[in-house]
Amino acid sequence: MHPKNTGEDALPNFKAIADMEVDAILMSHAHQDHIGTLPLAMRRLPGARIFMTEATAEVGSVLLHNSVNVMTRQREEIGEMSYPLFTHREIDRASERWRWCPLRQRISIAGERALQREKDTLTFEFFDAGHVLGSTGVMLRAEGQTIFYTGDVNFDDQTIMQTAVFPEQKIDVLIMECTRGDHAKPEGWTRADEERRLAKALAAAFEREACVLIPVFALGKTQEVLAMLYKFRRQRLLPEFPIYIGGLSSKFTDIYDRRTHMTRRQLPRLKLMREVAPFVLNDETVRDTAVRGGRVYVLSSGMMIPKTLSNVFARRIIENPQHSIFFVGYANPDSPAGRLRETEEGGEVALDPDKPPQRIRCNIEQFQFSAHGTRESLIDYAKRISPKKILLVHGDPPAVEWMRTTLSNELSGSEVIVPTPGTEVHL
Ligand SMILES: [Zn+2]
Ligand SMILES: [Zn+2]
Repeated sequence: MHPKNTGEDALPNFKAIADMEVDAILMSHAHQDHIGTLPLAMRRLPGARIFMTEATAEVGSVLLHNSVNVMTRQREEIGEMSYPLFTHREIDRASERWRWCPLRQRISIAGERALQREKDTLTFEFFDAGHVLGSTGVMLRAEGQTIFYTGDVNFDDQTIMQTAVFPEQKIDVLIMECTRGDHAKPEGWTRADEERRLAKALAAAFEREACVLIPVFALGKTQEVLAMLYKFRRQRLLPEFPIYIGGLSSKFTDIYDRRTHMTRRQLPRLKLMREVAPFVLNDETVRDTAVRGGRVYVLSSGMMIPKTLSNVFARRIIENPQHSIFFVGYANPDSPAGRLRETEEGGEVALDPDKPPQRIRCNIEQFQFSAHGTRESLIDYAKRISPKKILLVHGDPPAVEWMRTTLSNELSGSEVIVPTPGTEVHL
């Protein structure tokens, strides 16, 4: 699902596969852009089996139910009459058909455990992608050939998630994400240094009695930020202070907490809801909660889409020089968060098209805690694998273009393909 578009414009191009028989749908992870239209895909491809990890299924069902509520509201707010695209009941029925698969096990497309020596059967295998809870890369094998899809991947440790564990043997076709293709890794950047810089910035904000808004994705970034705040308090870098998150984020955080012992992760015993004990805001309370210094608001959406908690709250503090907004990850340049980051202090920005533009007076700072691999780590991985073909997906055009040029120069034996949606690629 396109994260920024609405209605028909947000849907995948189902037309291209309308006349095909589709055997299976393999879900890499439960972010909206990957799982957001799964019920529609299942409606259109009734014969397809659906495979994902158990964690992705758990998160995905919560996300899709939330999505029905959001779409039902948007039907009124933006007059999108096709919404909701599916119902709660449809999700309940659909999710009963999802098959849970463990990592690192070859499974036939029929859903049976496959033996290594059955070379001709089409099989898949999930690998830990280190991106968010449940995230995977997918290996397809058939007739002695291999195709590996990275999904969204991170090759570095985060505060909770650990680096991806991907196949290192020869792969024939690599399908790779390019999210960070247009940003070089900053010289000397380490996550530990960046965490310290965030702790210092928070301390400085508290000093001026500022409150701090951190716009985040509900899944992944929220839990990573909460884990950082937990560490800052425990290391006595910061005093006790109130933390606020949204309702959807709290549901995902509960799932992270429930699955601590089943997940390969850092801080394996940390139960965020209990130890960090954030207060939970909803669509109503975010409008009237008192804005006080010394509080941290870790609110979704990460791109500050209009009407979401981070957007509503940002509009309350943006004109006040006392307060701060800290960005900690990726935002599409055309999204409200992207535009806010680009606009100079004192400039005007309209975070919600239904409201008048506002002048930016608050303090804005940027940090780099992306859940996606650096472009350097993606290139390194492609070089180690040296596939016959590389398909570049999941990136803004400049990001994809940088990856294409670099891979073409550095991997002369690989054919680099940027696929056009709706056209068939011969592998
Ligand atoms: Zn993702
Ligand atoms: Zn994605």
